[in-house]
Amino acid sequence: MTDYAEFHRRSLQDRDAFWAEQAKLIDWHKPFEQVCDYSRPPFAKWFVGGETNLCHNAVDRHLATRADQNALIYVSTETNQERIYSYRELHAEVQRMAATLQSLGVKKGDRVLVYMPMVPEAAFAMLACTRIGALHSVVFGGFASVSLATRIDDAEPTVIVSADAGSRGGKVVPYKPLLDEAIRLADHKPQKVLMVDRGLVAFDRVEGRDEDYASWRECHFKTEVPCEWVEATHPSYTLYTSGTTGKPKGVQRDTGGYAVALAASMEKIYLCKPGETFFSTSDIGWVVGHSYIIYAPLLGGCATIMYEGLPIRPDAAVWWSLVEKYKVTSMFSAPTAVRVLKKQDPAALKKHDLSSLRALFLAGEPLDEPTATWIAEALGKPIIDNYWQTETGWPILSLCNGVEAAKSKFGSPGKAVYGYDVKLLDEHSGEELKGAGQKGVVAIEGPLPPGCMQTVWRDDKRFVNTYWSSVPSRLVYSTFDWGIRDEDGYFFILGRTDDVINVAGHRLGTREIEESISSHPKVAEVAVVGVADNLKGQVAMAFAVLKDPSVIATEADALKLEGEVMKLVDEQLGAVARPARVRFVATLPKTRSGKLLRRAIQAVCEARDPGDLTTIEDPTALQQIRDLITPAA
Ligand code: AMP
Repeated sequence: MTDYAEFHRRSLQDRDAFWAEQAKLIDWHKPFEQVCDYSRPPFAKWFVGGETNLCHNAVDRHLATRADQNALIYVSTETNQERIYSYRELHAEVQRMAATLQSLGVKKGDRVLVYMPMVPEAAFAMLACTRIGALHSVVFGGFASVSLATRIDDAEPTVIVSADAGSRGGKVVPYKPLLDEAIRLADHKPQKVLMVDRGLVAFDRVEGRDEDYASWRECHFKTEVPCEWVEATHPSYTLYTSGTTGKPKGVQRDTGGYAVALAASMEKIYLCKPGETFFSTSDIGWVVGHSYIIYAPLLGGCATIMYEGLPIRPDAAVWWSLVEKYKVTSMFSAPTAVRVLKKQDPAALKKHDLSSLRALFLAGEPLDEPTATWIAEALGKPIIDNYWQTETGWPILSLCNGVEAAKSKFGSPGKAVYGYDVKLLDEHSGEELKGAGQKGVVAIEGPLPPGCMQTVWRDDKRFVNTYWSSVPSRLVYSTFDWGIRDEDGYFFILGRTDDVINVAGHRLGTREIEESISSHPKVAEVAVVGVADNLKGQVAMAFAVLKDPSVIATEADALKLEGEVMKLVDEQLGAVARPARVRFVATLPKTRSGKLLRRAIQAVCEARDPGDLTTIEDPTALQQIRDLITPAA
């Protein structure tokens, strides 16, 4: 075993040699000439001059040694389907999809927007894109038309791949009307829409634009599509994420760096070896789905489980039955899912043979100690918290047990991962805080390691201004999270420094929700804050000021308007963004200079001390919120 501190030190101080070694984990069509070009900070280019292909490394590369091994195990408890694809079969399916996309006009560098439920065709579409050098841009299937439209306009896809419907808890959610409306709203019109018909719900077809995948698949049943060798720096995909402004950012990822980072993470962090089975319960619409349902397990020659359904349906043992059946060695989920399971009968966890499982990895939101302790005891397996962001694509903080076994500390996602020069900075001066227990902003010294975002899609300026400009005198990447570090080098994450909240592991910008609520004709002004919640980690709470307060005379009026506002958010952003409550107030707490005191509102909602209020203009505003949320005695 290697000494981890030394391993981490080498990844920074002997960076090029370190990553050149990791780069051997993947195939290169043409070797790279330079490991890292950081001549134009903060833009890092990894494996410059090298040529490779993500799909080749995830699929074709394994045909020689593991063609008949399971690659993709698809399980849907929504449609009661279970389909297994070997690497050979996956290779064939990806080529059928790639040939179809080419027939529909997709070329290298084009974008393909994927608006799909958790079906195997979504995985084929993503791999088909990287196979032909096109960029996929997956939009979470639950997103509403307005959100989808802004993403269509930003990505300008040649083709959109979609399906008739998703399904959640047995309820069918038609996708096609949402997609048609989004295309109607968007300025950019895709040339073609490729529809996967699951037979869940009938849908209208637009003549000349909509294509049926089943017939194209037949047509290209035997078509071979070679991998397009691309530069290591060629973008593989964009994935939108929320920030503090209403406009989502397209996180752009490269090819070579991403492949190397993910391949290395499988052995060093996620402890999964070739031939073993990896199970991530995420969705392809999120970064965890991209990295750890699709690419990393396949790059590692593992089998990956793609699961459509709830963790508690048909019962709370469903995930564990899959662990037993497919001998899952590494499982990856989110604290929110564990909190859901915690409310079920604990016997569900004891029903199945979990002996294959090495560890359960949890990420996406803070893992509170009671949840961690409960699942650790219930499973009798190590629980490994890991901290990262859509932007980084793989963990910033974790325990790298594949390098050296380390002790988990509940409440901490572990230490800085190799390749990441993680620092804690003073919020005001930007100075590095080296002492144990000092609270600062979690920042990363450039260059970001391989696999992290290259830039914001078509907006280099926004990349620099958003992420690299929070410390005036230096170029350093801000995660926008608060953290502290203990004397052993373990970090603890203390929440966001900006207006981003985390609901059930999904990141939402409070500004986005505010913009949506403000578009209601009766609303003059609104503040949205994230409030701690036992189940979801955080929920959004909205406080709105009405243009004409007299429209609310009774409690029933308030409830009716609250329902209207929630419906509006559902329509514009999707149900994920719907606030838990919308309350109506006479005025919002602001500073004398007019800045909304979101943190004070949040503190009041969480029954905490709102802190220094010397700058508040009208203290009664905060009192009104306090009265509203405190139940009458
Ligand atoms: P996303 O880009 O949607 O994955 O959200 C990233 C954000 O989620 C981070 O900036 C953190 O605020 C939060 N987050 C992710 N993983 C963890 C974790 N293990 N512990 C605490 N917060 C986390």
